Amino acid sequence: MSEVAHLDALFHPQTVAVIGASEKPGKIGHTVVANMIEAGFPGRIIPVNPKADEILGLPVVKDVADLPDGLDLAVVTIPVAAVLPAMEILAKKQLKSAIVITAGFKEVGGEGYYLEKKLADLCRESSIALIGPNCLGVISTPSQVNASFAAGQPGAGKIAFFSQSGALCVAILDWALGENIGFSRFVSLGNKALVSEAHMLAFLRDDPHTNVILGYIENVEHGADFMREAAAVTREKPVIMIKSGTTAAGAKAASSHTGAIAGSDQAYSAAFKKTGIIRAGDVETLFNLAQAFSTQPLPEGPGLVLVTNSGGPGILAADACEKSTLSMARLSLSTVERLKSFLPAYASLYNPVDIIGDADAERYRKTLAAVLDDPQVHAVLVLLCPTSSAQIEETAQAIIDNAATSAKPIFACYMGGVRVEPGRRMLLAAGIPCYAFPEPAIKSIEAMHGYNQWKKTPDPHFPAIFGNTEEAAKVFATVRERGDMEVVEFQAQEVLRAYNLPTPKTILARSSTEAVAAAEKIGYPVVLKIASPQISHKSDVGGVKVNLGDEAAVKNAFLDITARTQRLRPDAYIAGCLVQEMAPKGAREVIIGFKRDDQFGPLLMFGLGGIYVEILKDISFRLAPLSVEDARNIIREIKSYMLLKGVRGEAPVNFAAIEGILLSMSRIATDFPEVYEAEFNPVLVNHEKALVADVRLTLKA
Ligand code: ADP
Ligand code: MG
Repeated sequence: MSEVAHLDALFHPQTVAVIGASEKPGKIGHTVVANMIEAGFPGRIIPVNPKADEILGLPVVKDVADLPDGLDLAVVTIPVAAVLPAMEILAKKQLKSAIVITAGFKEVGGEGYYLEKKLADLCRESSIALIGPNCLGVISTPSQVNASFAAGQPGAGKIAFFSQSGALCVAILDWALGENIGFSRFVSLGNKALVSEAHMLAFLRDDPHTNVILGYIENVEHGADFMREAAAVTREKPVIMIKSGTTAAGAKAASSHTGAIAGSDQAYSAAFKKTGIIRAGDVETLFNLAQAFSTQPLPEGPGLVLVTNSGGPGILAADACEKSTLSMARLSLSTVERLKSFLPAYASLYNPVDIIGDADAERYRKTLAAVLDDPQVHAVLVLLCPTSSAQIEETAQAIIDNAATSAKPIFACYMGGVRVEPGRRMLLAAGIPCYAFPEPAIKSIEAMHGYNQWKKTPDPHFPAIFGNTEEAAKVFATVRERGDMEVVEFQAQEVLRAYNLPTPKTILARSSTEAVAAAEKIGYPVVLKIASPQISHKSDVGGVKVNLGDEAAVKNAFLDITARTQRLRPDAYIAGCLVQEMAPKGAREVIIGFKRDDQFGPLLMFGLGGIYVEILKDISFRLAPLSVEDARNIIREIKSYMLLKGVRGEAPVNFAAIEGILLSMSRIATDFPEVYEAEFNPVLVNHEKALVADVRLTLKA
């Protein structure tokens, strides 16, 4: 990652020049000056405009050439053609940071693309921290800076937000104002010509004003930098992100939007998972999580207790809890006794604790105190239905008072709308997340629990795996010399052997007589497969016959396969047939593969193979290099994991064998950047061993 100097000057400037400041309200150059003044910026604001004398009471400088040297921040709002000349002058004057709001750069393509490159090069060479171009600006509340043209001033807070989309910035600001949520830093990154997410993560990690980081991204351009910075910061502060452009239609929109090309969604998910970034599926979840993380302590365990004044919502919440990684806390006997002492006889003393419809605030207060004292309880969700006897505001106060004296996180769910609104307001003002329905509440608590676990996860272990890279490289060179890109099974097996991967006994036979001899050597039953460097999908041409039990079957299969292939693929060179050991009885088929992502590198996948792969699409992903823990978990994450573990007395498959294959594949992926895709399909595994029964590698063009 190229270092960006002077981010401090950007977020804590003394002197700010607005290039293109305007007297006319409604113009961006006017709004920026007005926002700076309204934010109460204590330093000097210098509007720059060739025609005006005074803007909003501030004396105007006519020309950038007349600005003082060593300026901390320039906010640039002039037309696109004028940006580079102005920046060249400012660079000579040792400008430290710039926010280029002006649009018309990379996002319009053609000339704009080159203009942006020149701007970025200039700033990089002159150590100017450049935000944008094509952005909304930057807000930094600790230094009372609002160098943006956004409507409304957010309050101070511990949440930092950066976004590739200016429009989303506007929406988030508006939401924050309504919810009374403040920000530390609020950054519209725009085209990210210089300062990108990775730089923001590095800065925010050390930022004492920030304890929760939110981001909206459409694409990441320096995947390795991004991952490194993310992994470092998430150990200290939660990072919650939205990645858009996830569907095919979304990806199209992203590329025409900020000139960004969205990477593959699975790669992003894997990158987030590997680095501990919490992914919010939608903007609402992002808001909810931001609020929860910034106001409540992390739960120390999965135990959730529900306190409710009505049965239905309690069950809904319990159902949501059941589906999550949280668990319904089992209250200890002493807590149950304590609850019994003051709750009505018909209340439910077990989780969910139903204090029934006539519960007043006092009953809530005592119940909360009791459950919070229980060591089995790590988090509390208080549900309130606006029954006729519900004391909406008094109950809110009881929750607030209990939260004030407890180190455990407390969340509220005030079901409904109009009647509960005053209570909801009170709770939010006191920093207690309050939801209208149980499901999003559970989602927030689950994310916080997950994050706490992530923080405690020990560093991963990377195994020592050695492959004979020279032998493997020879295979790739031979294939390339021939002008091919696909390494088919009978050649790729040599790569497998170079990495000590388990392959079934295989012999290349050039005639049916040779095939029979090979079968006898291997032992019946055998498999016959077409061997041609041009045919990588062998079954498609009828090129695979399994379970051949005797000499006649092998002979017939050989003649049948070769004749058929010749007819269907007259272009293909046919070397003969592979005679292969049959997989052991009861073996299950799994698929192990990888595809190289442009940003994040090799993305490994694991799933059930054979017919299941197409139908169930039950696949899990991890980015290389795989740790020992990754190899374990990628297998356990698929939905059909139980099929491998064995049902109804079946023996479990040899998991260690699959893990070993995964780790070796990861190694091949990192050893050979020229291998673009790889697939072991199937890997046949039973309780004893695993065999890579087919392999196909694709080289990079
Ligand atoms: P391709 O994928 O090129 O069509 P494969 O080598 O994967 O060809 O063979 C097709 C199918 O035949 C496999 O998915 C598997 O079900 C079966 N098969 C292949 N090799 C073996 C083997 N050694 N033992 C048992 N079954 C096999
Ligand atoms: Mg196959």
